[in-house]
Amino acid sequence: MRPCERAASVASVAAIALLLALLAARALALPVPYLWGGKQARIELPPALAYDLPPVVGAADASQPLVMIDPGHGGFDSGARTPAMDEKDLTLALALALRDRLLADGGVRVALTRDDDSFVALGERAEAARRRGADLFLSIHADSAGMENERAGEIAGASIYTLSERASDAAARRFAARENAADRINGQALSGQSATVNAILVDLSQRRTQAQSERLAALIEREGRGRLVFHPDPRRSAALEVLRAPDVPSVLFESGYITNPQDVARLVSGPGRTEFAGVMARAIRLWFAQARIEAGRRGEEANQGRPIRDSP
Ligand SMILES: [Zn+2]
Repeated sequence: MRPCERAASVASVAAIALLLALLAARALALPVPYLWGGKQARIELPPALAYDLPPVVGAADASQPLVMIDPGHGGFDSGARTPAMDEKDLTLALALALRDRLLADGGVRVALTRDDDSFVALGERAEAARRRGADLFLSIHADSAGMENERAGEIAGASIYTLSERASDAAARRFAARENAADRINGQALSGQSATVNAILVDLSQRRTQAQSERLAALIEREGRGRLVFHPDPRRSAALEVLRAPDVPSVLFESGYITNPQDVARLVSGPGRTEFAGVMARAIRLWFAQARIEAGRRGEEANQGRPIRDSP
């Protein structure tokens, strides 16, 4: 490589690094100098990074519970890919099917973190659920066994993820550290409290949220048995960024493997999608019914001066 070529190559690497840094900083279409020409140029970055809160649809009554559905990936983030399909398209189609089903059944409000092919950062998804006051957050994804894996096509079935215990502890710590004194969690203002009290409030909220997330995961598994195809080990937990809202019960549903032809055929078929939407909508409905009973019981106990029992 001649020195001038090397210089150009270094400049290109520097330009890419700068572009990545700008992406990381969520800067949009900033004027960026061409490192190799000394001119100003406007680099087109992916749209929709400046995220508006998604609209809420469904029951006009704001006292009705709100489900935030989160179709994984979007925009330049395709998710898992096969020659036939991008994960982002599959997740959006499933999310829209579930939204339509929930709205058709009535009694809930629904919002989607995205309803088109736009990019939404992970942190913004969970944050949108919090800011909209969502009662439940359901992220929809599809797994990939890796194209280089020779037996990838044999691995199949849906999995249900919740935030892992270790991760939720860490998330609680980070949340407590990150949130400023003006924030609220489960209706409790964190302002004016000592750091210790704040940490306890966040911890209590996180523990209850975790239990409620597990309850939804269990309902999805129960309702889906015999109707959906599950992975042999369908209940999992992981340190998933999108599940880190400390006060919104959150589950991530891996709907199947896009590297498995049967999973894909089922998930893109009308009947497969209807079955998926039916199972999820029923699990969500049952979850809200149980939550209402729990809330009633807690209210009774509080009225009778007995200690408030945490929901299971
Ligand atoms: Zn995904």
